[in-house]
Amino acid sequence: MSMLRLSIILLLLVTTVCGQADRGDFGPGTVQDGLTIKYIANEGISIDSGSNHILLDAIHRRYKPEYAFTPEDILSKIESSRYPYNRFNLILVSHNHGDHFNAESIAMHLMNNSSATLVSSDQVIDEVLKARDELAGSTGRKASSPSQFIRIKHEWKKSAVYEGEGLKVRFLGLLHANSKLPAYRDIQNFGHLIEIDGKKLLHIGDADIFTENFGSFGLENEVIDVAFVPYWFLLSKDGRAILNKELKAKTVVAIHVPPTGQSKTIRDILDSFPSAVVFSEQGEMLNY
Ligand SMILES: [Zn+2]
Repeated sequence: MSMLRLSIILLLLVTTVCGQADRGDFGPGTVQDGLTIKYIANEGISIDSGSNHILLDAIHRRYKPEYAFTPEDILSKIESSRYPYNRFNLILVSHNHGDHFNAESIAMHLMNNSSATLVSSDQVIDEVLKARDELAGSTGRKASSPSQFIRIKHEWKKSAVYEGEGLKVRFLGLLHANSKLPAYRDIQNFGHLIEIDGKKLLHIGDADIFTENFGSFGLENEVIDVAFVPYWFLLSKDGRAILNKELKAKTVVAIHVPPTGQSKTIRDILDSFPSAVVFSEQGEMLNY
């Protein structure tokens, strides 16, 4: 066993035992053995296992000061599909807000990586197709293929399944936070339940905090290994009730942590949910 491999295992033991992820010593985007989930920014993660390489909510630009965004060096490599960001075969986006996706950046990636498919809501696909056509027009390059875009119909409380080799993704129709307000009511926010490498990973986007939003999916019977949730779920009584009664994940990872006042936010998260892992620095990871 090499020192690197040994140090990875030790790092993971620390990560698991302490419930707090550490930043990996190996380069950003480097693929480890097994299943690796790596934090990129805000709610953005990469998921790597075997031949499956997924980016979820990980392609976005500077949007508002309170939100972390994909670091510019990484975004540039994603847009141009350069190593190690040229390996992705599946691009997922929870919803069309600027702290979760950028239509032009995704269109650029798809144009430069014909192996990648975007599977998402009508709202996301429509914006990316518009950006794709503008890009093809302005660069004179061939637009990415229609087969790189797969639409999933978003309906509240309903789910739909997408399957690939060694991969199953269940798209959960969840309402977005503040769903009572007109500006948020019609946002097509998807949760993703991803079965990969014998594990079940749940990412809920910016789901609204109320039990009925989650109750129809039978998630409590799924035996979820890791749930990635906005940190405010861990700070709220209703959020913790959903985590404990509806999601019942073995590991809860807090995401969407703002860059300002971060150490206090992390302390508050761990005070109210001591077993949580917090993703706040690019490169933090879980490995199975
Ligand atoms: Zn949002």
